[in-house]
Amino acid sequence: MKRLHRTHLKSRDGIIYIENPAINQLGWATHGFLTRQSGVSLPPYDSLNVSLNNGDHLNHVLSNRMRIAKAFGFENDRLILLKQMQLDGIYLLNNPLETEGTLLAYDAILTNLPHQILGIQTADCIPILILDEKKKVIGAVHAGRQGTALEITRKVLRRMKEEWQCSERDFLITLGPSIGPCCYEIDEKVFLKEWEPFSIRKREGKWMVDLATINIAQLKLEGITEEQIYRVDLCTCCNSDLFFSYRGEGQTGRQLSFIGII
Ligand SMILES: [Zn+2]
Repeated sequence: MKRLHRTHLKSRDGIIYIENPAINQLGWATHGFLTRQSGVSLPPYDSLNVSLNNGDHLNHVLSNRMRIAKAFGFENDRLILLKQMQLDGIYLLNNPLETEGTLLAYDAILTNLPHQILGIQTADCIPILILDEKKKVIGAVHAGRQGTALEITRKVLRRMKEEWQCSERDFLITLGPSIGPCCYEIDEKVFLKEWEPFSIRKREGKWMVDLATINIAQLKLEGITEEQIYRVDLCTCCNSDLFFSYRGEGQTGRQLSFIGII
């Protein structure tokens, strides 16, 4: 597994983001793990909030989305965002969406169509971007505690194999910024036994959980090797200058991670 850090931060038209050089090398995909910086939203959404569902002003969010689209050179109406449900629903985008602004109630979206920008909004949960290097298929996944418990990332890989005959050895998988085991405490009531190797019991009834490592372990069960996995190794809660964190801040914004076929 290769780790991406602050040294991988880039800027495009003033938008700060982290990119995976291995995706750029493919030459047919655009992507970015955006930060909270360089937008127009005011506290507590400062400043590049892309979510309309947390109390921010509509025109600030739309302005942020437009700045992002302009910086990365895609049409604003090509950005597809999901109404993330904390479940394991997977949407297969086989035709360009006709109804602009409709939020699809899913936690993952897959396509092989060009010019469709698949976006995931997070503030602690893991945004995961997946490509099949040979079949030119892409996927964007939202994996929080519940999605991880439902093994949504494994289900996405299986679906890509079913739909496009993807082979596990051709996947390139990048986990974006998420809350680390340093800051993510959960109650024993929602803790799963199989997470024990990746967690620390902090005190009675409380566990510190490493969701990213659990997802990586799930990927390996699907035949994915270390060399195919990249991880942005920055905790959203510890790095509050760069990222929104729900655990850290409560009322706050959501950062965008996206991927598209050029
Ligand atoms: Zn932390």
